[in-house]
Amino acid sequence: MDLSFTAEYEGFRQDVRAFLQARWIDRADRDVRAFRAEAIGRGYLYRAFPKRYGGGERPADVIENTVIVEEFARARAPGEVKGMGTQMLAPTLLDRGEEWQKERFIAPTLAGEISWCQGYSEPGAGSDLASLRTRGDLIDGEWVIEGQKVWTSFAKTADYMFALVRTEPDAPKHEGLSYLLIDMKQPGIDIRPLKQITGEQEFNEVFLSGVRTPADWIVGQRGQGWEVSRTLLRHERNMLGGSERLAKLLDSLVKLARRRTRNGAPAIRDPMVRDRLAALSAKAEVQKLSAYTQLTRELKGVRDPMLPLLNKLAVSEFAGEVAALAMEIIESDALMMPGEDRRGDEKWTMQYMNSLAAGIAGGTSNIQRNIIAERGLGLPR
Ligand SMILES: Cc1cc2nc3c(=O)[nH]c(=O)nc-3n(C[C@H](O)[C@H](O)[C@H](O)COP(=O)(O)OP(=O)(O)OC[C@H]3O[C@@H](n4cnc5c(N)ncnc54)[C@H](O)[C@@H]3O)c2cc1C
Repeated sequence: MDLSFTAEYEGFRQDVRAFLQARWIDRADRDVRAFRAEAIGRGYLYRAFPKRYGGGERPADVIENTVIVEEFARARAPGEVKGMGTQMLAPTLLDRGEEWQKERFIAPTLAGEISWCQGYSEPGAGSDLASLRTRGDLIDGEWVIEGQKVWTSFAKTADYMFALVRTEPDAPKHEGLSYLLIDMKQPGIDIRPLKQITGEQEFNEVFLSGVRTPADWIVGQRGQGWEVSRTLLRHERNMLGGSERLAKLLDSLVKLARRRTRNGAPAIRDPMVRDRLAALSAKAEVQKLSAYTQLTRELKGVRDPMLPLLNKLAVSEFAGEVAALAMEIIESDALMMPGEDRRGDEKWTMQYMNSLAAGIAGGTSNIQRNIIAERGLGLPR
């Protein structure tokens, strides 16, 4: 099997590498914002977005995209801003939004000037999301929203929320939802942080009491919220399933195993550690091949709905396995919480705890397995 790219793509790689060398690696005065603007101008970031919405506007080319991601990671240069706004809302607006919504929201979102949170989950609606009960009624040209969201990441700092709200109470549950955009500064929004096991407060409960949003801050039509949210989840699973992180994670683990000792010798010489490192590196290779399979299928115009699900599942489990081995290598240091700078080896404890969350966010691993089994393999419910 020949996994090398063609000479044309290797030429493209050299262009990207030269740009990164000159504009990031060799710069003493690094300015992230200016660098990103330049990278967008060169068409290296936000390539699917037209220039008028602040994007790089390039024809779809998954191999060029892969080369860019690989080279930016190699140079440790800032790539696209990661977040709910850039990776989930902006692509959804591009697919499904009204022209005015694209013009108003996409460019400032990509530039990092405005941020978003996702208002989906509720106390009685997580895996069974379509059961959600937060109500939206159209009164005097505005949606009036009443209800509660939970696990809302970054709600405290977000400027806006994209939310699923029940606007058609008499319709079947999947057809009764609408997809609304809400300004987080509106009166009636009460945000209560939830403290996590890591000590962080990323999640929040969000109570909405008579919160108003204009009638046209709806994406898609009334009752189409479920469909719109499915577009978004595809983006979310792509975002969570990216395989490029694996090699970096494994590399950090190998460095740790070289540096730390176990039974008086470098941990990397311990047979148990070697065995598990070998298994993990084989898994990372398989995951890379799976990503290449996806690339090849996309190039042939075949859309495989199962691969993003498989990737999300594999990547979230892999991160946990890497962190679990790291914790065994650092032994009792794993009992400490990391310091402010997160530079000590105890950071692996945090990595482990965060890896547990990856198997829940964006649809739990159990639910991913259900979908793969039922829709992918045709097994009975
Ligand atoms: C890091 C993180 C960030 C998040 N950020 C957000 C956010 O910003 N906005 C937002 O709206 N939500 C967010 N969530 C919430 C997340 O989407 C939900 O936690 C998730 O969908 C699961 O819902 P639940 O917590 O209600 O669990 P439940 O649905 O109650 O599930 C509990 C357990 O039962 C299992 N289960 C449920 N149904 C089935 C079934 N049919 N078959 C087999 N097993 C089943 C699940 O796998 C799980 O193990 C976040 C979660 C995490 C961990």
